Amino acid sequence: MAIASGHDLAGPRPRQTKRSADLADATLSDKALEIHRRLCPVYGCPIPYFHSLDPLSELVSSLLSHRTRNADSGRAFKALRARYPDWAEVAAAPVEEIEAAISGVTWPELKAPRIRAILAEVAERHGSLSLDFLEDMEVEAARAWLEAIPGVGPKTSAAVLSFSLLRMPALPVDSHHHRVAHRTGLIGAKVDVGPSHPILRAQLPADWSAQDLYDNHEILMLHGQAVCHHRNPACGRCVLLDLCPAGQAQRSSVREP
Ligand code: SF4
Repeated sequence: MAIASGHDLAGPRPRQTKRSADLADATLSDKALEIHRRLCPVYGCPIPYFHSLDPLSELVSSLLSHRTRNADSGRAFKALRARYPDWAEVAAAPVEEIEAAISGVTWPELKAPRIRAILAEVAERHGSLSLDFLEDMEVEAARAWLEAIPGVGPKTSAAVLSFSLLRMPALPVDSHHHRVAHRTGLIGAKVDVGPSHPILRAQLPADWSAQDLYDNHEILMLHGQAVCHHRNPACGRCVLLDLCPAGQAQRSSVREP
């Protein structure tokens, strides 16, 4: 997967959620900022953007990546573009051919018709196969436009705005990010990935740039992958241990006879 720096494209943007003030808790905001402050030097903020795709391509890429290793979804995306250099060709292609091109991902038989349906939806609602127009919208409005597409949820809408060349200030939350947020107490035990998006976004400063929010997502995701594992989190070497109820409980249970 190509590594591309997007720092020059990620200047501060004023467009922010209007729900922030309602959702943010001052204590949790302080904790969210402290977590960001501690993890940034560990993972090297500012973190280079891993994609330089237009937003429609990013949407297809996000769909391919669902429950699929990055290397496999990256290969499938390249295979699809090699076979159909234009998204209009994909929209008109037999679904079996699309499925064959993306056979390396999980559930290609479901993703092939989904890709065609999404392309048809974009063409019908916008009048052309492009999502570049989202750049002129507020973040929340752009997310709502994307989430009106069947099968597109908060994680995908935020990923399209943040990871694509739009470089808009949106905060995606993946399963690793969500796990760290849950264990450190930023979100409650019953808050699922989807509903966690506005809560975690509201804990961060409203005027943070696209790069700041991208960094926040990346460092929590990377921490979940490298230290706060799904099974057996490495709390003994975690820089968040003193802030983390789950980590302290885990250490207490280890110390007990
Ligand atoms: S202390 Fe343990 S549970 Fe808490 S964030 Fe660190 S690794 Fe995860």
